[in-house]
Amino acid sequence: MGKKNDLLTTPIRFLKGVGPKISEQMEKKGIKSVEDLFYFLPIRYEDKRYIRKINELREGEKALVIAKVITSKSLFFRHSRKKAYEAIVDDGTGNISVKWFQWVSSYLRNICRKGNILLLSGGVSRYGTKLQMIHPEVTILGDESEIENCKGIVPIYSEIDRVKQGTLRNLVKRVFEDYGVYVKSILPGEIEKFYGFTPLYEAFFKIHFPDDDLLESNIRQKYIQRLIFEEYFLFQAALLMKKGEIKKGRGISFKSDGIYYNKFKGSLPFELTLAQERVIRETEHDMAHIEPMNRLLQGDVGCGKTVCAILAACIVVDNGYQVAFMAPTEILAEQHYLTIHKAFEGMGIPLVFLRGNMGKERKGVIEGIKKGEYSVIVGTHALIQKDVNFRRLGLVIIDEQHRFGVIQRKLLKEKGIMPDTLVMTATPIPRTLSMVVYGDLDVSVIDEIPKGRQKIWTKVFLDKDKFAVYRMIEDELKKGHQAYIVYPLVEESEKIELLNAKEMAAYFRKSVFPSYRVGLLHGRMRAEEKEEIMFRFKNREIDVLVCTTVIEVGIDVPNVTMMVIEHAERFGLSQLHQLRGRVGRGTYPSKCVLITSTRRTEIATRRLKVMEETTDGFKIAEEDMKIRGPGDMLGVRQSGIPKFRVGDIVRDGDIMTHARRVAEEMIDRLTVDDLDSVKDTVLTRWKDSMHLYNIA
Ligand code: ADP
Ligand code: MG
Repeated sequence: MGKKNDLLTTPIRFLKGVGPKISEQMEKKGIKSVEDLFYFLPIRYEDKRYIRKINELREGEKALVIAKVITSKSLFFRHSRKKAYEAIVDDGTGNISVKWFQWVSSYLRNICRKGNILLLSGGVSRYGTKLQMIHPEVTILGDESEIENCKGIVPIYSEIDRVKQGTLRNLVKRVFEDYGVYVKSILPGEIEKFYGFTPLYEAFFKIHFPDDDLLESNIRQKYIQRLIFEEYFLFQAALLMKKGEIKKGRGISFKSDGIYYNKFKGSLPFELTLAQERVIRETEHDMAHIEPMNRLLQGDVGCGKTVCAILAACIVVDNGYQVAFMAPTEILAEQHYLTIHKAFEGMGIPLVFLRGNMGKERKGVIEGIKKGEYSVIVGTHALIQKDVNFRRLGLVIIDEQHRFGVIQRKLLKEKGIMPDTLVMTATPIPRTLSMVVYGDLDVSVIDEIPKGRQKIWTKVFLDKDKFAVYRMIEDELKKGHQAYIVYPLVEESEKIELLNAKEMAAYFRKSVFPSYRVGLLHGRMRAEEKEEIMFRFKNREIDVLVCTTVIEVGIDVPNVTMMVIEHAERFGLSQLHQLRGRVGRGTYPSKCVLITSTRRTEIATRRLKVMEETTDGFKIAEEDMKIRGPGDMLGVRQSGIPKFRVGDIVRDGDIMTHARRVAEEMIDRLTVDDLDSVKDTVLTRWKDSMHLYNIA
């Protein structure tokens, strides 16, 4: 429903019969415009084809009645010491008692307000001589006329405080009468025809004004899926348009197969996996084109993304351009710097690490970057500072992109003229989610771990068996290996958790591993302190590192063979997976132990079981999304997932895939008018999340 249908954006308070009270309540529920009312779909249907008269009810049957509340009050049964709430309702043929054995909430009082017309559905029983219904399903209808009006199959809408179902139904009816003609699908007619979709207006109509068929769930689904397809299609078409806009720019066309490229490729001590080769092909293909590359490289920790990125960097250097490589933390940036340094050692590629805090040296380095004395510049946010300028920036590589804000990524890109961009993430996310979050990017996936990698043995232990775990740690230490012991870090209670890690470190030092060196690392330490500890751990000056999740970020210490995660039930699956990825980086067999209390929830049990069963990051992400929902699993920084009106990304993933495919096929064939209305609609409907795109 696009710009030509502006009347649909009419605020509901302009509708007849909608006073300020009603509109305020409805707006709280997110219903602001006429269009919102069309999308306010019933949550269920009541089959009122069989409304019974109270004087005909029999004990033991299930029945549906519409009746008016005469009185209501609290009861107390002395012999059973039970409290109850009772309403007497009357439909003109007789009355019946309705009872609730539960705390009398304001909700209940509200339902039982004298004069309310209720739709009651439940079992009929007897108490003494009187018939009653206990805990029936209740819906508040409108006024007295409802007793006659409410027939057939009636849509029930989600409860809105102080707005009766009858009022809602009347409003919807009025909106269909007055605004129905403006409901027009944005889906190009061609698609509607090809897939045999019901026209949009008709789909809405069937859903809001059900006929007998609609009680069959597959028929209902048909209409609902049609609505979901439309919104998914719109969204995907918009992302493809954004993607297209980037491609319109004129960037740099890089030639591969240069000296550094071949030297580096030839020096690799291993064979590339098929997945790596595919990704490299995709990247080179993008880089060869004049349009700027905008590619995301997704793959589990250790699958070999960095190697692919370095190859891309070689191409750029071969062509006389500079590469900026940005990582979220100093430790990680340094690690990348060391890796690249090692790879480029002897190849004569000038490389520099722009530290956040480099004192007097900084000026010279910045000067060098500007003059083009350095070909590869590695760093953290330090790279996007105002005074950092490049001579010829050709490629921007961003590691763990989800840790950077949109603006930061954009700032770095703007330091060049349409440079290529390669963003990497070791946080695998499910395909359907990827289509939403990264829909404007080209996505490469490395779904293969290099051969010969050790599987990480993973086991859940209960708190009370901790000592067995400590003995396992000691066994590893005796072999000359190292271990992590991780404590959760929960934002609000960070202090408490911190104490925990701190206290435990002292305890381990004194009572458990007195003959080993125990270190402590946590988020409250200054950056230099953290680095110092990590550095010593890498150098094997520390045997056991007690820490919070700060090590989550890409630390690579191959000699660590054991990770113990305390309070494992408090971590999300993806986070556990990330943590576990810190061990097994070398050639030794590694272990991961998840310690939990016996009182964990069922969800936690299921989650931990997944960890025992698989090390496949994509599978784990899929499971995590099912358990926690897409918003939570991505974390606060990525909460820009658009809100769909009808669709649910987890439940309706198939429709998303379908919509993406159709959008890809159709995008070039859409008319200018079609494209305009897609753009318009998307910008108004998802204005809060669209700004997150296009600047990866
Ligand atoms: P990621 O960046 O995806 O975490 P890296 O590129 O850092 O992974 O690779 C992890 C380790 O595996 C590195 O030591 C790297 O040299 C090695 N590696 C990368 N690709 C392969 C491969 N195809 N075969 C064997 N080892 C590899
Ligand atoms: Mg890496």
